[in-house]
Amino acid sequence: MKLDSHSSSSAAALQRMLVAAALLAVAAVLPAQAREGVDVGKTSSFAGLVSADQLEQVSQRQYLQMRQQAAQQHVLAPEGNPQLVRLRAIAQRIVPHSYEWNERARQWKWEVNLFGSKQINAFCMPGGKIAFFYGLLDRLQLSDDEVAMVMGHEIAHALREHARERVGKTVATRGAIEIGSALLGLGGGGRTLADMGGQLMTLKFGRDDESEADLVGMELAARAGYDPRAGITLWNKMVAANKGAPPEWLSTHPSGGSRIKDIEANLAKVMPLYERAEKPGRGFGPPAPRAAPASAAGPD
Ligand SMILES: [Zn+2]
Repeated sequence: MKLDSHSSSSAAALQRMLVAAALLAVAAVLPAQAREGVDVGKTSSFAGLVSADQLEQVSQRQYLQMRQQAAQQHVLAPEGNPQLVRLRAIAQRIVPHSYEWNERARQWKWEVNLFGSKQINAFCMPGGKIAFFYGLLDRLQLSDDEVAMVMGHEIAHALREHARERVGKTVATRGAIEIGSALLGLGGGGRTLADMGGQLMTLKFGRDDESEADLVGMELAARAGYDPRAGITLWNKMVAANKGAPPEWLSTHPSGGSRIKDIEANLAKVMPLYERAEKPGRGFGPPAPRAAPASAAGPD
């Protein structure tokens, strides 16, 4: 009897151990599975071919140059411009949610500027340098939620280092020809960065990067308290605008036909985040529509 009870208790102990081991195994995989929001996998390994520091420095120089030129031409929105205030308020809500995607973002010198161009365009360069063109806000009459979706999308490109990946791919291609610089790695990257100078603002992204930016962007916006369903209305506006003069934004952000469907398919993953998020205390809104927008457009 004693032996039986001993053996049954050791069987029970073994069972407890197995359960504990199973629970540990579950715990080990839980963080990835339990993470709320979208799932986009790892960043491209091509990004590793270029120094993030260097890329951010080049971006900073180019952005500064663009800002200075705009100021000289009197097309840089001054402090206090209502649409600039709006953009900065939205960015301030989104940026804190970016750190989870890229630790470097904590140290970035984030900047948001509004350029007086009628282009339908916006970008965020590596290092958190954000630019919006007035035409995007004015011609598409974007709501705050829609602005947050564009901003989230652009910030996502920077966080996921899509520019670094593009430059890295260029390094890899040239490396086959210039074996020496390929071996140097960073040296080659530095030269390619110099060669690509001026292109960082107009880099054309691939469709994979686009859908990744859509998903990460909608999660960022949702966590910041902006309605991710605005992604659908935003895209409908882009598509409608595309029938007239195509938005410049679409030439650097190529769209797959399934874009709106992909956004819809991922809404369920981010709606709970939006519902729980603290909502913006202050709403803004688009610029007042002009009587004759086609003829009364601002400077280019
Ligand atoms: Zn994009």
